Order: sequence, then structure tokens, then C-alpha cells
Amino acid sequence: MSDSQANMQSETQSLEHYWMPFTANRQFKSKPRMLAEAQGMYYKDTTGRSVLDGTAGLWCCNAGHGRKEISQAVSKQIHKLDFAPSFQMGHPIAFELAERLAQISPDGLNKVFFTNSGSESVDSALKIAINYHRSNGEATRTRFIGRELGYHGVGFGGISVGGIGGNRKTFSQQLLPGVDHLPHTLDMQNNAFSRGMPKTGAEKADVLEQLVALHGAENIAAVIVEPMSGSAGVILPPEGYLQRLREITKKHGILLIFDEVITGFGRVGDAFASQRWGVTPDMITTAKALNNGAIPMGAVLIDDAIYDASMQGPDGIELFHGYTYSGHPVAAAAAIATLDIYQNEQLFERSRELEGYFEEAVHSLKGLPNIIDIRNIGLVGGIQFSPSEEGVGKRGFGIFEHCFANGTLVRATADIIAISPPLIIDKQQIDQIVNTLGDAIRAVG
Ligand code: PMP
Repeated sequence: MSDSQANMQSETQSLEHYWMPFTANRQFKSKPRMLAEAQGMYYKDTTGRSVLDGTAGLWCCNAGHGRKEISQAVSKQIHKLDFAPSFQMGHPIAFELAERLAQISPDGLNKVFFTNSGSESVDSALKIAINYHRSNGEATRTRFIGRELGYHGVGFGGISVGGIGGNRKTFSQQLLPGVDHLPHTLDMQNNAFSRGMPKTGAEKADVLEQLVALHGAENIAAVIVEPMSGSAGVILPPEGYLQRLREITKKHGILLIFDEVITGFGRVGDAFASQRWGVTPDMITTAKALNNGAIPMGAVLIDDAIYDASMQGPDGIELFHGYTYSGHPVAAAAAIATLDIYQNEQLFERSRELEGYFEEAVHSLKGLPNIIDIRNIGLVGGIQFSPSEEGVGKRGFGIFEHCFANGTLVRATADIIAISPPLIIDKQQIDQIVNTLGDAIRAVG
């Protein structure tokens, strides 16, 4: 599309019909921000202006944009087999993808249940947990434990175990019963400006023992946490914290689910955060970068023991659950092409190699106005600001807008700016993101 065509499109386009998700729709219409094309590290907006992608889309495009390997695989697959029923029928590519995922997943997590999104992965994992305990003769294990500030998508299961008030309040009477939350691990008093994992706070995992004492282990199905909270603003686990959660869950026969929708596929410097931090849960939920965001797809990686027990469920029931598009052949083709890119270009390793440079770059912002914390790991960083007098989130959004106007996409959640670029980023582009951000912080004040 030429620039003039793109301009025309933006001027004549009706904005009346599309109800945008998690967007201030009325505000957006008065000042739309449209992305029309993408290649490599850059978007183009509808006026043809380049915007450096500092967010991998929405934590999705870890291999960068416009990858020919993916579009060719998708095109080939649509011609070969566009769709096949997912219930009672199989198709080879879904089995191939499951095998590929088992190869890179942590030890023991060799079974894969396909979904279409992170929210569906979470709700599937919760159901698989209850179903597993029932198969094991422990049908009373139905309670879940999430964590404050956790984001687990927007299904009723996900918002129930999630710990972000804004996503729950409107629906508070309809949430899943029997859910408790562990305390979050953000501690800016003791751990502000930590690089990587904060040193203190592992004992926050011990609250789990109190919840077990309160409810009885025999009533608790699973604990679900993001190993690193993404949506709430890049909150890292303190050293030893995940290990403690693992020890306590294991001791009481409670399943541990890591929601790696954001941390999966290289973001934190390893295929999964589980491997980076040496803690293996019983299930891992994924989506987003699984196929570089090209086609909606998610997957739950599941320990063999859960699968084996579920196959022996009462009344011959294995699991009554699934989606029309589970293991969709075209999405699966995109995922296999994506995994090939990650492997051929060693992008998970690249995330780890660039971590030091990225860390120095984001921490160089320290001292600029209103910054109260900077956090980082792999190729993800969070910069937290004190709220302005105009209210919570105004400063963060102002900085995001300023960056976008100056050609860099970052993400604002409340007064935290998150940076999570495609893993193909180079050092110069890291500098560009940080420089634009620095200018925006000074300008917004
Ligand atoms: N879990 C986590 C940790 C996420 O970050 C997200 C999305 N940001 C989800 C679940 C939900 O994913 P989706 O939007 O694809 O449903």
C-alpha cells in the first residue's frame, strides 16, 4: 500500500462498529492509533510512519514480524488441509507440533492439550487439574489458589484465580467459588531497582502452608502463578520463591501450574521460565509466541503422570473438554515454522545473551523524573513511576503516547511501562527504545 492510500484509509475508515478489547473506546476514536503493516522489528502505521516494536506486538512476535517461513507454511497448509474435525479425528501436523513442544518443555511435561488463546489454556489447565484429582479418587480437591496481581486471561476461571481487581470487580458475584490468593511478591521497599531476581521475599510462598492448614490439602486442586507476572508490570519472583512453592505443593499433593503465556518461548532467556529458574511445575499454560502471534493458538503442557491418571478416570471418562479449533492445522503449521526459527536462529539463547546489555540500558533510566523502580530479566523490562496528581495510570499512558508519537511502541499498565521486544532485536534498537523512552519521561514529567 502506498502512503497516500494508507492516509486515505485512515481518513475514511468508520470507527463505529468495532468494540475494541481492553481499550478506552471513546478515547481511542478521538485519537486513533492504527498499525497497518509490519516487517522485522518495525510496524508501519496507517500514514506509513515506522514504529519500532518494543513489545513484540502483545508479547507475541518473538521472531519479529513478516516472517516468510511462517506465511509460507501457513499458505501451504491451507492448501493441503485447511481444517479437520478435532473431536474423534486427528491430523498429522497437530501430533507433530505436540512432539516438538514436548522436546523443548521441561522434563516430564510430555503431553500437550491445544487451545486457541491464553485464557483457554488457563481454563483448560484448571479443568484438567480437577479432572485429574477425580480420576485419582480425590474428588474433593476442587479449590484453587492464585496470587494477587496475577493475570490469567479473561475466562471466568482465569479472572477467578487472577488477582487484578479491575478485571474481577464487575463480575464479582459470578466468580468460581473456592479460590484464595497468595500475596504478590512486589516489594519496592526492599527490592527496588533489583537486577534479575530480587534477593528477599521467598517466605511469601509460605502463606501457602497457612491456606493448606485452613482448607485442608484434600480440598485443594492446584496453585496457579505466573513465574514472572507480566501484565501487572513485570514482577519477578524472589530468589527461592518458586522452589518453595514447588516444595509445599508437592508435600501436599497439590498441582502447581505455571502460566507461561508471556514467559514462554524465550522471553526470560530460556525456552520457559521453569527452565530458567530450575523449577518444574505439573502444567505450563502457553499461547502468544507459540506461533509468533500469527494465528490464535495456545497449548497446555502437561506432566505424564496427570495424563496417565486421567486415562484411568471413573466410568471410562478421560476428559470432557475441548475446542473446535484445538490443534488447528493452519495454526499448528505456523507454530512448527516458528519453532524452527527459534531453533535455527537460537533466539532463546539470544535473549539470554542480550540480557546484560538490555539490563544496563533499561537501568540507565534510573534517576529520571518519578521513576520508583526498574525490573528486568531476559528481554523484558518494567519501569515503574509514581502516579501523577491527575490519577493512577495517567503518567504511564502519557509516556506510552509520547513514545508512539516518536516512533516506538512500548506498553503501559497503570504507571508501569513494559518493554518486551522481539528476540531478534539488536543493540542499536535497544538503545533507540531506551532513548525514546528517556525523552518521553522527561517530556511528560
Ligand atoms: N495468562 C497470561 C500470563 C497472560 O499474560 C495472558 C495474556 N496477556 C493470558 C493468560 C490470556 O491470554 P489471551 O489474551 O490469549 O486469552
